[in-house]
Amino acid sequence: MARKVYVSFKAEDMAYKDAILGMSNLDCFHNSLNTPIDSVNEDYILQRIREDYLSDSTVTIHLIGLYGAENRGPYEQRFIKRELQASLYDGAGNTKSGILGVVVPEASAAVFKQPYRCGNCGDSHSSVAIGDGTTISEFSYNYYIPNGKCAHPEEDRYCVLVAWDDFTTAPSDYVERAFAKRTAPIANRTKVRP
Ligand SMILES: [Zn+2]
Repeated sequence: MARKVYVSFKAEDMAYKDAILGMSNLDCFHNSLNTPIDSVNEDYILQRIREDYLSDSTVTIHLIGLYGAENRGPYEQRFIKRELQASLYDGAGNTKSGILGVVVPEASAAVFKQPYRCGNCGDSHSSVAIGDGTTISEFSYNYYIPNGKCAHPEEDRYCVLVAWDDFTTAPSDYVERAFAKRTAPIANRTKVRP
């Protein structure tokens, strides 16, 4: 079935947002948070964003490009941070959404690195640079949820990550993976404001 999907993106990645909204097998929408919510109560703000912008969506697609890094400062990233916080927020009658990170082609080399041999367990681990240099902390924390291990198997991640080219071959499959995380055990270990 077509899931209701919300797209969170930086202005520089608008062409990819438009491409997603045009995919015939996804039921997507985007509202931009351009009306400030007049409150200092963070829980109230997130509740309002959820109700006003994300009320029917169950998966948030978070575009990861070259301009959405935490290192560029929280003010620069204020909208995408709020969008992910609201997506992760469990409100009354409105449970948190799955998060699907889609890495746009320009950012691919910065995120997907060569696998490496682990000095701890001797296995080969994939090297995926998800952190403050590539994305916001709301995504990176809930991707690499601290687990005390030398690697992060799929079940230890809440966010789902995919490269743009793979995503476009089967967009609904990746949306379903993110949707399924909402009821997976790892859903109990997410953080709204890491
Ligand atoms: Zn290891």
